Amino acid sequence: MCPSCGNVISDPEWHLADVNVPAPCCGDTGKSRGPWPDSPIRKLIEIASSQDLNTIEGKRTAIIFMYTAVHLMFEKILWKLLESAGEKMKLT
Ligand SMILES: [Zn+2]
Repeated sequence: MCPSCGNVISDPEWHLADVNVPAPCCGDTGKSRGPWPDSPIRKLIEIASSQDLNTIEGKRTAIIFMYTAVHLMFEKILWKLLESAGEKMKLT
């Protein structure tokens, strides 16, 4: 995720881990960029994806893990929006 403009960028080769490489979205450099969603959420998605969807237990487990992953992603997006709004309020 770009720390400057908040865009999520596909970077499977991890080229953008080097902060000197300009972000393709806004050309920003020099700021730390993290993967999105972060590791704990990716693990929840991985667990949900590995369930046997031919069984009711597998479906239930997958739903619970995906629900939790989506909930956490929305929570992180909300925090980013609040941080962004807070920074804008400081500037005005
Ligand atoms: Zn950007």
